[in-house]
Amino acid sequence: MDNYNFDLELAGRGLYELIADLYPIHRSIAGPGVRKTLEKLKTYVPIQIFEVPTGTRVFDWTVPQEWDCRDAYIKDDTGTRIVDIHNSNLHVVNHSIPFHAKMFLKELKPHLHFLVEHPDWVPYRTSYFERNWGFCLSHRQFLELEARGNLEYEVCIDAEIKDGSLSYGELFLPGKIDEEVLLSCHICHPSLANDNLSGIAVATYLADFLSGVDRYLSYRFIFIPATIGSVTWLSLNESHTSLIKHGLVLAGLGDAGRITYKKSRCGADIDRVVAHVLRNSGDSHEIVEFSPAGYDERQFCSPGFNLPVGCLMRTPTTGYAQYHTSADDLNFIQPSYLADSLVKTIAVMKILDQNRVYRNLQPKCEPQLGKHGLHLSYGKKATGFDQLAVQWVLNLSDGQNSLLDIAERSGLLCETVKAAADKLNQHKLLKECPQ
Ligand code: ZN
Repeated sequence: MDNYNFDLELAGRGLYELIADLYPIHRSIAGPGVRKTLEKLKTYVPIQIFEVPTGTRVFDWTVPQEWDCRDAYIKDDTGTRIVDIHNSNLHVVNHSIPFHAKMFLKELKPHLHFLVEHPDWVPYRTSYFERNWGFCLSHRQFLELEARGNLEYEVCIDAEIKDGSLSYGELFLPGKIDEEVLLSCHICHPSLANDNLSGIAVATYLADFLSGVDRYLSYRFIFIPATIGSVTWLSLNESHTSLIKHGLVLAGLGDAGRITYKKSRCGADIDRVVAHVLRNSGDSHEIVEFSPAGYDERQFCSPGFNLPVGCLMRTPTTGYAQYHTSADDLNFIQPSYLADSLVKTIAVMKILDQNRVYRNLQPKCEPQLGKHGLHLSYGKKATGFDQLAVQWVLNLSDGQNSLLDIAERSGLLCETVKAAADKLNQHKLLKECPQ
């Protein structure tokens, strides 16, 4: 994973194009939208698609029925569609029950959702676990309906809720050791760009990158619907979770905000590695403590699992008004922000993958480096590696401290410490300790 040349502009464009391609698909937590999304991702990376039957018990939850929405509209008496999911799939409350009736605005009103504070935006609403129906529209559209008086409308949700299965995708990239890094993202939201699609795109590009390099650790990517997806995955893979040593939930990675990292519940290496990368990036960023609200870290970090999983995002969901509205569209994200998120995620993976513990084979006083072929002049930076880093590595490599520990204690970059360790290893002054 040492040398990678990344054309940032090209990567950004690719990430953005993938999002634009997935954006129109009408997704829900289970059904054809998720399947279509996974099939598209399969053309990028060889994910395996799993189907878990409706009704399967997963801890305290049950795998839900599928939702397939073919059409949904509100028509006036001239036959004009006032609200139409062909304009935006956010117009129908996700997972609405099938419904077809004529009704007056007064009866229809309790089923209409809008945002008074953002009159042009359409909110995103769901009704996964409650049998209900509804429409979302802009407040401007709603006011137009109201201005017409209490007229009669044809209301139709041509949808099917039926037994089937919950679909999720998984990609496993084996390394030299079985210990794993878990990477997860959500795949259930309909036309929302930052929330869901940016995470999918970064995860897909990261998987593609990792599949082309030498890996020490193993990597497991899961593409899952929100909440029920991680609950289901953990339920089916419980015996396996002891191999997960690091993990990241990837979400909201395409907006203009600075990177935010939410730490794991247990305080793991991943927290230190992300902090190291962000600190040394020179870019503005924020690190927040764990809390049991947010994305799938809620499940991975539940007390029965307590996995070392944090959440990498840009602006947290509570920090942008566009969240869960039609304004989280293709204009809200930019290729450069997506590329920046990807590069930082790769930097995190690189440190995780290269982190090792060594033992100094000449621990009594400093070795005479010249005798071992390491010709250094003190106070001068040697080419390719750093004199000070050599001293730190020799001093702290007592079989206890990892390269990450040494980097943190010395204030040096992980890659500088790694270069020094490689050099000392080559000259037989260090020995790698078994994991
Ligand atoms: Zn969401």
